[in-house]
Amino acid sequence: MKKRSLLMIPGPIEFEAEVLAALGAPTTSHLAPEFIEAFGQALERLRQVMLSTDGQPFILAGTGTLAMDTVGANLVEPGDRALVVNHGYFGDRYAAILERYGAQITQVGAAVGGRPGVDEVEAALQKGPYKLMTITHVDTSTGVLADVASLAAAGKRQGALVVLDGVCSVAGEELQMSAWGVDVVLTASQKAIGVPPGLALVVAGPQAMAAFKNRRTPVRNYYGDWNNWLPVMEAYEARKPSYFATPAVNLIFALNVSLERILAEGIAPRVERHQAVSRACKAGIRALGVGQVPLKDEFTANTMTAPRYPADVRAADFLAVAAQAGVTLAGGLHPAIRSEYFRIGHMGVVSLGDILATLSAVELALSAGGVKVEPGISLAAAQGAKA
Ligand code: PMP
Repeated sequence: MKKRSLLMIPGPIEFEAEVLAALGAPTTSHLAPEFIEAFGQALERLRQVMLSTDGQPFILAGTGTLAMDTVGANLVEPGDRALVVNHGYFGDRYAAILERYGAQITQVGAAVGGRPGVDEVEAALQKGPYKLMTITHVDTSTGVLADVASLAAAGKRQGALVVLDGVCSVAGEELQMSAWGVDVVLTASQKAIGVPPGLALVVAGPQAMAAFKNRRTPVRNYYGDWNNWLPVMEAYEARKPSYFATPAVNLIFALNVSLERILAEGIAPRVERHQAVSRACKAGIRALGVGQVPLKDEFTANTMTAPRYPADVRAADFLAVAAQAGVTLAGGLHPAIRSEYFRIGHMGVVSLGDILATLSAVELALSAGGVKVEPGISLAAAQGAKA
């Protein structure tokens, strides 16, 4: 029996062999010519993946939370006002981070599974001015997708810097950083970017960099201070060695491989593939008569699905049966409904075959929980999902 199970959680995900091979290759010096080239390419490619024409990329050892944290540390000064568009757990986290750096926070929230309307957000922005607003593109705790284009346009109309938490979206959901007026996009390596956990990724546009350069007070975070990192990123992009703190050499080689593959697939076809896989997964879940956390279909992410357990199905039992069937699924995360739903991640190299395997495991786990399931019904629905 194979020991590996299919990893279908919303990060980390299944990774490609070529990416993992780069991680396992002998480590070079961080000043070696081949590393300088790979780091330089990775910085350029990160900007391309975000569809940014002029953003400044930062690649740091760390996770998505560090990416959120450094953006807060570098853009917020004590007393600044910040608006958090909140549709879940990671919105709460961003508010806590910005507060730590002295921001006065206003939140626009929604019921669990909902999202605040653009009009509501714009009305809140009009009570500003706000130095910045944050949006979670896909809140991984609810599977709710934000309408980033409209929210960013509202932010720009009202003079706020628009910061996007794209940890569960970048390279899986549509995102046009420059065209939509998003000032900062941050993400992490372990989701649709396709690299094991360990890299915090940020692209900051010109207005965000200007706000950073015009700070009146020092950045109150030593490791994350862009004053330390900007010269390093500029040097590597100019194919010159530089040092502030040791870069995660192997992870950056692996990132460069993955970004090359993402760009070779093409951003638009990649987003369409994620949409098709998501449609198949959600059609299968619907065919089982199982509801989902997002309150409306138009709110659902393409990178994940968040089905609600039918009454009487117990989370621990359900996840254990799915794991026995060879598929690792994630439990709930949002504190208000934690035991009421589970999460399926479908990003990166995910295929329709992975979705069919996942739905079979879901069918088995539901049956084991006493739910009457016609075997294969969700697979047929997934295969018949409209392109
Ligand atoms: N934001 C979102 C939307 C996320 O999904 C996550 C991770 N699940 C984070 C931030 C935090 O990232 P990390 O766990 O890599 O620190």
